Amino acid sequence: DSPKYNTVAAPEGYAGEGFFATKLSDVVGLARANSLWPLPFATSCCGIEFMATMASHYDVARFGSERMSFSPRQADMLLVMGTIAKKMAPILREVYEQMSEPKWVIAVGACASSGGVFDTYSVLQGIDKVIPVDVYVPGCPPRPEQILDGIMKLQEIVKNESVRRRSSDEYNDLLGSYNIK
Ligand code: SF4
Repeated sequence: DSPKYNTVAAPEGYAGEGFFATKLSDVVGLARANSLWPLPFATSCCGIEFMATMASHYDVARFGSERMSFSPRQADMLLVMGTIAKKMAPILREVYEQMSEPKWVIAVGACASSGGVFDTYSVLQGIDKVIPVDVYVPGCPPRPEQILDGIMKLQEIVKNESVRRRSSDEYNDLLGSYNIK
């Protein structure tokens, strides 16, 4: 009875079992949301919590995200976990740019989200200074349940997006507005 997948009466003369009608964007969104391939960009302690999230007790495979990718071109969910020094910022930006669309970003933990306790000249005060972020996971460090919650929130975003997430013009405008100094 989902409002997205309405059953409809079979047309006159149709002898099959019946069918349902939906939109291509809903089907694509459902498939994408349940097969997000993570690229772990882990620089410090929050990365350890992600290791626990990957292991059997929390089992991120339940969400279709067990397939780690260490090539940006084969990943669509960038998980940034840890303190990002300003010297690291251009590298993070380059990794993000190397991922092909559609792609999404989760800032895992206080350091990635806002710089955390490292309010100092050498630390980026949040990765959203250099790349767009879709979901922020609070905590220092966040527990595996919180990381899973962040992935589930991202799944909801992905399910409700259009098939083509951004035009290349929008994408270039967006990246152009970020400062990597
Ligand atoms: Fe480490 Fe806390 Fe920063 Fe995570 S948020 S990287 S646990 S200091």
